Amino acid sequence: SEERENLTYSLFGEAIRELAQKVADDGYEPDIILSIARGGLFVAGGLGYALDVKNLHVMNVEFYTGVGETLDLPVMLPPVPNVVDLSRKKVLIADDVADTGKTLKLVQDFCAEHVAEARSAVIYEKSQSLVKCDYVWKRTDQWINFPWSVEPPVVRREGQVLDA
Ligand code: 5GP
Repeated sequence: SEERENLTYSLFGEAIRELAQKVADDGYEPDIILSIARGGLFVAGGLGYALDVKNLHVMNVEFYTGVGETLDLPVMLPPVPNVVDLSRKKVLIADDVADTGKTLKLVQDFCAEHVAEARSAVIYEKSQSLVKCDYVWKRTDQWINFPWSVEPPVVRREGQVLDA
């Protein structure tokens, strides 16, 4: 379908409060929020304030396309979170969307070896996702336009002079 799910910054503000409310209503009190960069950074920052959690960590995960491979597999990029910081902690994994769910699966498997408990919160979950997230704001099967990535990177303009 050509239809898109459009998340604006304004709607994101509402979504993150409602997502946090689901976590709070469930009685889950994470020690750490683990964001999956880059999209998950926005979600983790918002949840951090809404849930009053100051301990935020980052994992960098990217899809690696093997030469001649048709399958995309996500890989962890350095720096990998310090596992000592995570040990015996209750973790809330935060990301923008679970689509295939492969990214979240990788992070969940990493956490399973190192933390006391890990749950996951996403703004969107698609029906094909192999990971069923604990907290989901909205389900969709459309392509999502996120406010932080819908526009291309800015480019330097010629002749722009900074104020003194
Ligand atoms: P996965 O397929 O592993 O669940 O998703 C990996 C990543 O692909 C997501 O974190 C997100 O950055 C990107 N992605 C997946 N589906 C969408 C989508 O519908 N819209 C956008 N903008 N990115 C997506």
